Amino acid sequence: MKPIRIIIVGAGFGGIYTLKRMHQLFHKDNRVQITLVSEKNYFLFTPLLHEVATGGLNPQNIVEPIRKILGCCLHTFYLGKAMCFHLQDHFVETTDGIVPYDYLVLAPGAGTNFFGIPGARENSFTLKSLEDAIRLKNHCITLMERASHVASQDVRQNMLRFVIVGGGPTGVELAAELQEFLKQSFSGYYTPEIIADISIVLVQKATELIPQFPKLLREKSLEVLRKKGIKVLLGNVVTQVKKEAVELADGSTVPTETIVWVAGVQPANIPFVEPVARETDGRFRVNRNLQLENYSQVFVVGDAAGVKGEDGVTLPALAQVAVQEAKMAAENIKRQIDGQTLKPFIYRHAGSLVSLGQWMAVGKILNLALWGRFTWWIWRTVYLLKLVSWQKKVKVAVDWTINAFSPRDISRL
Ligand SMILES: Cc1cc2nc3c(=O)[nH]c(=O)nc-3n(C[C@H](O)[C@H](O)[C@H](O)COP(=O)(O)OP(=O)(O)OC[C@H]3O[C@@H](n4cnc5c(N)ncnc54)[C@H](O)[C@@H]3O)c2cc1C
Repeated sequence: MKPIRIIIVGAGFGGIYTLKRMHQLFHKDNRVQITLVSEKNYFLFTPLLHEVATGGLNPQNIVEPIRKILGCCLHTFYLGKAMCFHLQDHFVETTDGIVPYDYLVLAPGAGTNFFGIPGARENSFTLKSLEDAIRLKNHCITLMERASHVASQDVRQNMLRFVIVGGGPTGVELAAELQEFLKQSFSGYYTPEIIADISIVLVQKATELIPQFPKLLREKSLEVLRKKGIKVLLGNVVTQVKKEAVELADGSTVPTETIVWVAGVQPANIPFVEPVARETDGRFRVNRNLQLENYSQVFVVGDAAGVKGEDGVTLPALAQVAVQEAKMAAENIKRQIDGQTLKPFIYRHAGSLVSLGQWMAVGKILNLALWGRFTWWIWRTVYLLKLVSWQKKVKVAVDWTINAFSPRDISRL
């Protein structure tokens, strides 16, 4: 009998957790053949990306090779990019050939949203991939080296001004870590004059940071960042990004050679032969069972899926949303194959945590607003436990332990 072919496109949180759940559900089940298509040969643990960008973690410690995750059933893996989807004819064109399917799980994630701001795409750093994180770290180190040979303080200050655009969790975590990386780790190697010239500016469109958190935590995070010496500009918008400056809506210009754009995401843009339904924010329109509108054998999970919560609001682009959707998509595919009724997806929010540098984090867990050292310890423990393999958990724990007693690594990779 011909096996039922299931393809998963994308090996981030959505794709990998679909695969893992399917592995449990179809373990040694010869009826199905599962194929994973991914442009990377590893799974990236994005919540710790800012720590790679700021020298806190070794890049290899936050990735897991896909071949290792595939498990004992040795599902098929295509290292390549899905280039075009043929939904009527049930196949995917990839850079590695044509892959036919009976069921398709779309988990291509999201890219950075520059909101059409002139110059933003061309002149900004982003923080979506391991390459992004390494590029940003290398750039910081290069600037420090260049600045150490510049006599003019004005020029040095402009060179060492780092602008982060976006005051959501990623922007806030990055600002705090970058401040510690630049001001503390570099202080042992550069003169106090150069260290004093470093500044970090965080630009946030809303009037508060991390708007999705309770008011107390929004205020706490602002207080912590300002105490660290980070300049937080609230209610301001970047209107243009140039090579050596950003322009703001209030008419001011901020000279800088480093703009990190973490202001928003938009679904990955993949071509389809047939038109597919999308929400106004560009995410794929799915029903409550996570099936793509008009295509009952196509499921969408993660940042690309326009799934609504019980309040009718689209769920946020979070790893925990992607993981829960992934498990439900895998289960619904099994139900569909077995001729059973599909189950609607209901999201359960486990809580949110944001680190604010060493020994400080804020978080909302079980309706409790938490902050301080204990919250930071919870943050670290949660993310450590969520890493895929025990080897990487140990390596990250070792990195963190060493960092608690010595400056971070400032090697340019
Ligand atoms: C810096 C940062 C920090 C974050 N911190 C947190 C956090 O603390 N907590 C939290 O819950 N969430 C966090 N998130 C959000 C979280 O990472 C995403 O919500 C989650 O990764 C979404 O999972 P996904 O599978 O949809 O997409 P991704 O994890 O982005 O995976 C998509 C995968 O698909 C691949 N792909 C895309 N197009 C193709 C194609 N055409 N062919 C083949 N492969 C393709 C990509 O290469 C990628 O590997 C963070 C995100 C970032 C960037």
